[in-house]
Amino acid sequence: MTRREELAANLADLEERIALACAQAGRVRDELTLVAVTKTWPVSDCRLLRDLGLTDLGENRDQEAAEKAASLDGVRWHFVGAVQTNKARSVASYADVVHSVDRPSVVSVLGDGAVRAGRVVDVLLQVSLDGDPARGGADPAAVPGLADQVVGTAGLRLAGVMAVAPLGADPAAAFALLAEVAGRLRVLHPAAKAVSAGMTGDLEQAVAAGATHLRVGTALLGARSAPLR
Ligand SMILES: *Cc1c(COP(=O)(O)O)cnc(C)c1O
Repeated sequence: MTRREELAANLADLEERIALACAQAGRVRDELTLVAVTKTWPVSDCRLLRDLGLTDLGENRDQEAAEKAASLDGVRWHFVGAVQTNKARSVASYADVVHSVDRPSVVSVLGDGAVRAGRVVDVLLQVSLDGDPARGGADPAAVPGLADQVVGTAGLRLAGVMAVAPLGADPAAAFALLAEVAGRLRVLHPAAKAVSAGMTGDLEQAVAAGATHLRVGTALLGARSAPLR
């Protein structure tokens, strides 16, 4: 099997999983954006996925993402990893969507970078669902303040929320909490509709809880040699 055939088969299997999850949740596939998380995989894989019609690709390291973005067009780039303040300006120069904004310093540097690059970047606020700051994400109580800051920052557009289910916890409960946070945010900012949740191991629970963006790596590309999250 060529790599193209392998990726096509994985994509077909994944779409079947997503279709079933949608059917079980009474949702339609059109409400979901599938983001292929290509971190650690070569740009040749990114190109194959793009050519298979998967044009939303996710990365979590600035240098790797910048290199891939520079060498491949026709892709909407999603930055899903922790954003270091000193990398935020660079991220804003190529990312179309940043899923992992969780503190004020990142908002301001990201906005600065977007304005300098003459771009508008969609921002999702990453929410911590287990109160463990080491794993990234803002406390739910901090979300409204961060949202106001994003709205008031040139070059940024508030698009919604994102979370990673806590390790070893029930993803359904975690995504239910995320849905609550997302609902409260929409009351204040109706355009902030995106809910980025669900990876290879928990996408069914994410679809059931109302996710709009799934971030899937392993099910599409295979197991990464170095476990990066
Ligand atoms: C790596 C990564 C994913 C994809 O995880 P898989 O389990 O390989 O599907 C999703 N979201 C984030 C934030 C990631 O870092």
